[in-house]
Amino acid sequence: MRVATVVGNRPQFVKAAAVSPLLRERHEEILVHTGQHHDEELSDIFFEELALAAPEHRLEIAGGTNSFQLGRMVAELDPLLGRIEPDLVLVYGDTNSTLAGALAAADRGIGVAHVEAGMRSFDRSQPEERNRVLTDQLSALLLCSTASAASQLEREGVPGAVVVVGDVMVDVALALRERALERTDVLERYGVEPGGYVLATAHRPATVDDPLALERLVELLEAVEGPVILPLHPRSLARLEHHHLYARAAAAASLTSPLGYVEFAALLHHARAVLTDSGGVQKEAYIAGVPCVTLRERTEWGETVAAGWNTLVGLDAGAAVAALARTPPAERPPLWGDGDAGRRIVAALEAYAAAA
Ligand code: UDP
Repeated sequence: MRVATVVGNRPQFVKAAAVSPLLRERHEEILVHTGQHHDEELSDIFFEELALAAPEHRLEIAGGTNSFQLGRMVAELDPLLGRIEPDLVLVYGDTNSTLAGALAAADRGIGVAHVEAGMRSFDRSQPEERNRVLTDQLSALLLCSTASAASQLEREGVPGAVVVVGDVMVDVALALRERALERTDVLERYGVEPGGYVLATAHRPATVDDPLALERLVELLEAVEGPVILPLHPRSLARLEHHHLYARAAAAASLTSPLGYVEFAALLHHARAVLTDSGGVQKEAYIAGVPCVTLRERTEWGETVAAGWNTLVGLDAGAAVAALARTPPAERPPLWGDGDAGRRIVAALEAYAAAA
């Protein structure tokens, strides 16, 4: 079986790390990096730390509006897939690279397999939600993290085959847990004690693109009892600087460059709580047993909220402070499988290719 995997940004490198090495044990994988995230801090370090094979193809497409980026990616993926002639195209999550891979493959009549299919925030104003819905409609094989995601796809009447495989981020979190726990040197660097700080991330367009939202984010950071460590996504750094809010943010939190997976996981495991607008970080907080306060009105990972470990506060500073003071429940049932999602995905791809 020959699989072309299309990835382009940080969370996709993490997710691919759960599948790619297993796939390569028995099959041919051709990794295509669209270039959406292309620098050392958001890309290269993940390939090194997670032992991902170097991409066979790099498209170097970054910047511009979502539509511009998507259009360029599809235009370049189309002839490339024509040359590679894969049996399947594998895509992850909810970014422009995900949808571009799905569109280009579907147009060539190549089956699309989508990892994290069926997740919904039910907020179509988020580009990620639109990418998820459209990719699922185009996919031949929908690989779900949960049974409720599979039920959602059934309700939407997707034409492809739906398989519940668990969540690949569990595989990676468990595989690197010990390495992360050992890295207490990272806490020393920021002068914090285990359980004595909040780890924050914020990069989604809804949080950082609108100057009023960005100011509310800064006010929220100012209201939270620290210390707060905030590894800044380049997008957020640029917006804070542009709107002259950087100094206030820096007074409210320890701002750092984006961290590699292991250093970030080290800070996450030892944090008192996590404050984030990320999808993946909500999951990782749950897996690590760290309460999460999510800077959004809606989430595609609603089961973490239902379990009492995640609170949605939007950009409401008072609600964030109150949520951070809550004690999490004693129970934390496993939600996304046992760390075996990568193996299940390879098996599902094999079954699909055999039947095709
Ligand atoms: N992450 C990281 N370093 C950081 C911030 C996040 O390694 O400084 C990792 C995090 O552990 C998770 C992934 O990046 O695995 C989440 O990516 P992001 O928040 O960019 O995307 P989303 O999950 O919102 O799509």
